[in-house]
Amino acid sequence: MNYKLWIDGKWEDTQGGKMMSIENPATGEKIADVIDASRADVDRAVQAAKTAFYDGRWSKLTPAERSKIIWKFADLFEANAEKLARVESDNTGKPYAYVSLGGDIPFAVDNLRFFASAARDTHGSRAGEFMKGYTSMFRREPVGVVGQIAPWNYPVMMAAWKIGPALAAGCSIVLKPAPGTPLTTLMLGELLKEAGVPDGVVNILSGGNDSGQAIVEHPDVRMVSLTGSTGTGKKIMKTAADTLKRVHLELGGKAPFIVFDDADPELVAAKASMAATTNTGQDCTAATRIYVQKGKLKMMQDAVVEAVKAVKVGLPYDDGVQMGPLISGIQRERVSGFVDRAKAQGAKILTGGGVPKEFKQGYFYEPTVITNVQQDWEIVQNEVFGPVVTVQEFSDEAQALQMGNDVLYGLAASVFTRDIGRAMRISSELEFGTVWINDHLPLTSETPHGGFKQSGFGKDLSAEAIGDYQITKHVMIAQA
Ligand code: NAD
Repeated sequence: MNYKLWIDGKWEDTQGGKMMSIENPATGEKIADVIDASRADVDRAVQAAKTAFYDGRWSKLTPAERSKIIWKFADLFEANAEKLARVESDNTGKPYAYVSLGGDIPFAVDNLRFFASAARDTHGSRAGEFMKGYTSMFRREPVGVVGQIAPWNYPVMMAAWKIGPALAAGCSIVLKPAPGTPLTTLMLGELLKEAGVPDGVVNILSGGNDSGQAIVEHPDVRMVSLTGSTGTGKKIMKTAADTLKRVHLELGGKAPFIVFDDADPELVAAKASMAATTNTGQDCTAATRIYVQKGKLKMMQDAVVEAVKAVKVGLPYDDGVQMGPLISGIQRERVSGFVDRAKAQGAKILTGGGVPKEFKQGYFYEPTVITNVQQDWEIVQNEVFGPVVTVQEFSDEAQALQMGNDVLYGLAASVFTRDIGRAMRISSELEFGTVWINDHLPLTSETPHGGFKQSGFGKDLSAEAIGDYQITKHVMIAQA
C-alpha cells in the first residue's frame, strides 16, 4: 500500500517531514509507516488546492457536474468497501463486521450519495428588489481552500463527512486525518482521482498536531473544519483568529441518557448498553451519564448491568464480536485513570473497571458501569471516551433537566418516557444539538449533527453542512 502524501493528484514524498509508525490497537503490532507532513508539505498541498480553486476546475463546474463525480466517488467507495474495512479494522481495532456491513462504510457511502444529490439544490441564488430601481441577488459561493482536520474514532467515515459537503459546495480541500489512523483516508486519494475529481481539489496529508497547526496558520486557507476534542477546538479557534478564518468545530460530548419511571426497562437496557459501548465508547455522542427517576434506580441499573455484561468483547475478526479495544495504550491509561480516581472518591463499580484477563495484547478495557457518583465529579463532568457509563438518580423532570444540562458539553442527549408531553417539554429545554426520544445514537445523512455550548458549532451531515462551506455574496444591480 502506498502511504505517501496525496498532493495535486499524485503520491508525493515529504520535504523535510519525519516518519510515524502506525499500529494495530488489537495487537499492539506495527502495521505501517507514514509521513508526518512538514510545514513545507502543508504549503505544497495548500498551493495545489489554491490553484485548483481559482482556475475553476471544480469550483466553476455546474452543480450537476459536481454531483455526478461525487456520486461516482461514492460508488468507488462502496466497490472498495471490503478493502477499506480491513484496513480500517486493522488500524482502529474495530469489529470488521461493524465497519464493513453494519456501520461506518455503508453509512459513509450513503452520506456521499446524499451530498452528491444535495449539491444540486444548494447553489441557487435568490433575487429581490429592496430599493427602488435596484435588483439584489444573493449568491451562495464556495468559501475557497478549506483545511479539514479529523479525529481517530471513525477515520474513514469522518473523511466522508468532511469531503462530501466541501466538494458539494465547490471548495478545494487539504485534509489531515488523525496521527494514528491515516490509512483509509490516504486510500481515498486514488478513488477520488478515478471518480473524476480534478487534481489538486482534494489533498490528503498524514501528520501530527504540528501539521494540523500549519494548516490552521496558513494564510491561504479560508476555513478550518475540525472534528476533535474541545481542547483542540479552543487552540484552533485562537490560531485561526490571526488570519480571521472561518472555523467549523465538531468537538467533544458528554451525553445524558435520561430514564423516566414510565420507560420500558428492556428497551432502556438494550439502548444504554449499545450507546455506551458502540465503538468502545469512543463516540462523541456515546451515552455516558444515565439518570434514572427515583423508585426505578435499582431495577433499571440491574437491567443495564446485565445488558452491558453480555456485550461481546473481542478481536476484530472474531465471530459476533461487538466491542474491540481502545485506540491506544495512552487512551487506555486515560480511561482507567478516570475509573480509578472515581473509585478512590467512593464510586461503586457495578461491572467492569479493568482490563479483561483474556487479552494479553492490545488495548482492551471492560465495559464498565459505575454508580455512587456525584454530579460535580470529573467522571460525570468530563469526556472519558471509553466504554464507561455512570448511573445517578433524579426525583422529577426539573431535576432531570438540571442534571442533564449541567456539563460544559452540548452535543447529544436522550430521554426515555412514554409521556409525549414530557418528551416535548424536555427536548425543548435540553441544550444539546441532538435529542433522541426512546433511542440513542441513530443519525442519518439528512439529519444535522453538531454541538451546542463547548461541543462546538457548525453542522456535519444534512444540507446545513454544505451551507457551512459556502459564503453569501450580495450583488446589487442598478436597473437604469
Ligand atoms: P484531538 O483533538 O486530539 O485531535 C483531533 C485532530 O486535531 C487530530 O487530527 C490532531 O492531529 C489535530 N490537532 C491536534 N492539535 C492541533 C492543533 N493545535 N492544531 C491543529 N490540529 C490539531 O481529538 P482526537 O483525540 O483525535 O478525537 C477524539 C475527540 O474528537 C473527542 O473529544 C471526541 O468527542 C471528538 N469527536 C467529536 C465528534 C463530533 O462530531 N462532535 C465526532 C468524533 C469525535
